Amino acid sequence: MEDIKAAVGILNDCEVPWVVIGRGSNLLFDDQGIRGAVIKLGRSFSQASFDGEKVRGYAGVWIPSLARRSASLGLSGLEHMVGIPGTLGGVVAMNGGSLRQNIGQIVDWVTYMNRDGEVDRLEGSECGFSYRTSCFQDTSKIVLEAQLSLIPSDVQSVREEMVQVLRERKAKFPLSQPNCGSVFSNDPYIHREWGPPGKVIEMCGLKGLRIGDAQVSHRHANFTVNLGNATSQDVRALVRTIRHVVHDVTGCHIPCEVRYVSPDGEVTALHKSL
Ligand SMILES: Cc1cc2nc3c(=O)[nH]c(=O)nc-3n(C[C@H](O)[C@H](O)[C@H](O)COP(=O)(O)OP(=O)(O)OC[C@H]3O[C@@H](n4cnc5c(N)ncnc54)[C@H](O)[C@@H]3O)c2cc1C
Repeated sequence: MEDIKAAVGILNDCEVPWVVIGRGSNLLFDDQGIRGAVIKLGRSFSQASFDGEKVRGYAGVWIPSLARRSASLGLSGLEHMVGIPGTLGGVVAMNGGSLRQNIGQIVDWVTYMNRDGEVDRLEGSECGFSYRTSCFQDTSKIVLEAQLSLIPSDVQSVREEMVQVLRERKAKFPLSQPNCGSVFSNDPYIHREWGPPGKVIEMCGLKGLRIGDAQVSHRHANFTVNLGNATSQDVRALVRTIRHVVHDVTGCHIPCEVRYVSPDGEVTALHKSL
């Protein structure tokens, strides 16, 4: 924490923009890169400890590993996250989850550092969790540590549930090709009227659409895969086209879940930068 505080202090003093990332699995950087610093909370910030049904972890904890450790202790609550490639900090910031669940539902508290290097704590109910959103997305707060509340269960059933989740994800998602997860998020109105984003994109006949080396996945239309040398520009053009066609068909602007990092170090939902 002292290192992060020192780094942030120097960057602020030198007026260098900075962003904090976990594994970067939900991020699209610009082709120009970033004229600033990227603070990556990874392996060196990845200790987690269990105490009864509570688990405390630093922001760099790898979520699939944490889910597996919970399972081996017979603790339930992270089954839906076993296949999410992200860190605890990234998943808290994104309020990630699957199968209609999200991490915000089990967060007791989050310790964070503000842009001035001060450390504070928010209770789960104060974190502004809603669908794929939290108060940590405005980049003014670095998630440092979080405590989660799990539910005592038995090892066998938690493991079986995880195997099932992984099996379904393997069948549904294009996991063998580079991608940034779900490109579009589930807007409640669009979902009610037309269905989830993948279904809407497929309905619009966009499966397989390719711009440069970026392609709408044949396996799941809410995934954009990199066929080899896709540029950020290719992905942006493809997402722009999808949004345009979906708007023509449904009258709705479909929002993005994937986040775009601009050369100036701004991090926003991709559609806000198009
Ligand atoms: C194949 C695949 C499948 C996926 N499936 C799912 C899924 O089922 N459900 C789901 O929710 N997501 C899914 N994702 C998206 C992604 O894994 C999640 O959004 C995850 O939470 C990102 O974690 P990360 O550590 O890589 O964060 P990053 O992608 O590095 O960052 C995401 C956001 O969090 C912020 N952030 C990261 N760390 C911190 C921190 N310590 N403090 C403050 N802010 C921080 C970043 O600034 C950024 O705004 C998938 C992605 C892929 C590639």
